[in-house]
Amino acid sequence: MTPTELRVNLGERSYDIVVAHKEIGGPGPFARKLVQGKKAFVVTDANVATHAQAVAVSLQRSGFETEVAVRPAGEGQKSLGVAAELYDRLVDCHADRQTLVVAVGGGVIGDLAGFVAATFNRGLPLLMVPTTLLAMVDSSVGGKVAVNHPRGKNLIGTFHQPKGVWIDTAVLDSLPDREYRSGLAEVVKYGVILDPEFFAYLEENTAAILRNDPGVMQRIVLRCCRLKADIVERDEREETGLRAVLNYGHTFAHAFETAAGYGGWLHGEAVAAGMICASRLAEKRGLISSDITERQRRLLKAFALPIAPDAWPIDQLLETMSRDKKSLAGKLRFVLARRLGEVALFDDVREAQVREVLEESRK
Ligand code: NAD
Repeated sequence: MTPTELRVNLGERSYDIVVAHKEIGGPGPFARKLVQGKKAFVVTDANVATHAQAVAVSLQRSGFETEVAVRPAGEGQKSLGVAAELYDRLVDCHADRQTLVVAVGGGVIGDLAGFVAATFNRGLPLLMVPTTLLAMVDSSVGGKVAVNHPRGKNLIGTFHQPKGVWIDTAVLDSLPDREYRSGLAEVVKYGVILDPEFFAYLEENTAAILRNDPGVMQRIVLRCCRLKADIVERDEREETGLRAVLNYGHTFAHAFETAAGYGGWLHGEAVAAGMICASRLAEKRGLISSDITERQRRLLKAFALPIAPDAWPIDQLLETMSRDKKSLAGKLRFVLARRLGEVALFDDVREAQVREVLEESRK
């Protein structure tokens, strides 16, 4: 399958995203065009170490000396302690300002390696090689990098745009089914917030999507990256409120993830149920009719994603929401649909209405 390419236009920080399928040569030639340096520092986790090894071989063929750091999998890796261990490895291998940091993995590795690239020696070039669907359509594009603080997710972070993103959708073959479906929630989100035709395309192709059809998935990943890039180009540092539309479903989702406890619900699962709650809230405010919620519900259900929260205590959910970074001065802040393909930020949502939505959703 022919690789396709798109450009993220950010002035001197612009970069290309390649979306390929079984691209035999790997990212080496692409990486070679990005930097002059000789060294590449590949960061990966144990579950994708074989993919990372293939990336390292491709980089070597293109003239890079490679160093591969294999971390255990899991959110716990996004810590300052782990970042410090990676700094040590970079010092040991005499990294210089031209050393290319290559993140091969899901959002955890992308955020961690990206954070290390952003901070070591005042910034190293970064190549993202995402291996989960979520990382392909979301976290590897846009330059947000972070590690967690014991008391808050992504609290220590910055913006550091990659020099390039290399996506080979063939790696999705080894992704566990639950992770794959979780990534589909973010895919559906793009349709709801920005592109009704894309939403309809997802509705028409659920079977092909569920069997990870290469042509369909290449097209989907490309479309999501374009949609995200369009937003990032207009609000790179989340200053105008535009980039915040990407948080559709997320105010509810973070509360559900917190209530479910670590590892209980995957992020995309929480986003799926969160989108339905957000849609119900939009209905309550008279913004949309119930058929829009119904279409989201049907599509998410086809992907075997949760469409309602568990019976968690509502007071606890509301408490988490009011502490969320996205709420301003105690008021609850939500991204709500005006129609399919168009959303807006609302920061005047009354708690009573949110409570009603949660009560009704759990039934
Ligand atoms: P993840 O990185 O933990 O990956 C999920 C699991 O799948 C891991 O066990 C991983 O080892 C495994 N895996 C990955 N690719 C695989 C493959 N091809 N084959 C087999 N196993 C594979 O999770 P994720 O959902 O990709 O990312 C979640 C993280 O992304 C969170 O930390 C979140 O904060 C972050 N995130 C960042 C942004 C951003 O803009 N920077 C956006 C969204 C999410």
